[in-house]
Amino acid sequence: MGFAIAIDGPAGSGKSSIAKRLAEKLGYIYVDTGALYRTIGLAVFRKAGKTDDPDIISEVAGDIDVDLGYNEKGQRVFLDGEDVSEEIRKEEISHMASVVSAVPFVRERLLDLQRSMAREHDVIMDGRDIGTVILPDADLKLFLLCPAEERAKRRVAQLEKAGMEADYEQILKDIHIRDERDTTREISPLKKADDAHEFNTVGHTADSSAEEIVERFGLCRK
Ligand code: C5P
Repeated sequence: MGFAIAIDGPAGSGKSSIAKRLAEKLGYIYVDTGALYRTIGLAVFRKAGKTDDPDIISEVAGDIDVDLGYNEKGQRVFLDGEDVSEEIRKEEISHMASVVSAVPFVRERLLDLQRSMAREHDVIMDGRDIGTVILPDADLKLFLLCPAEERAKRRVAQLEKAGMEADYEQILKDIHIRDERDTTREISPLKKADDAHEFNTVGHTADSSAEEIVERFGLCRK
């Protein structure tokens, strides 16, 4: 088992940007577990459209190969060998990821892949249940906090920067829906582990958050 840092928190709280910066600073591998759920969401969307039928979702999830790889662009995710790292970022796939992640077979299916990454490498892993279910013995657990309105504002800025249209009210509504689904699902809901440290990202950039985490927890490069 390598050194493991688990970062959980709601959608848009800054997990992935902070985890990436921390991984660079510390020389660890960054494992973005949301990408795995997104990949299954994409596979279901391609095969069955916008369904939320757990039987169809389980069937598709059992039928596909999902894998992670790393190159100079960072983590890449593969669906049956195809690099889908960009396609999984589309808005409709965010919705599908949230839907498929509530299906027990999907979570079961992705458990080993996530744990094996932590067995083989020093990792910074982010998601919703990393500190509670996937890596209960992680060396450091962080739970990020940020109000929904602030997360929606950040998403709008991100989309506008990428030259895309952004509707604040719609984005805020989507965030509330995902929060509700992530926190109330029966299996592995988004929840702070008892031994996780809360970290509020309001008023912080990803860089300043990473800097503060390194200092506060005395982390150093491997
Ligand atoms: O983090 P990201 O927004 O990419 O995650 C996509 C969806 O996957 C989330 O809405 C959440 O429902 C689900 N997810 C999860 N458990 C994780 C990571 C993501 O349920 N460990």
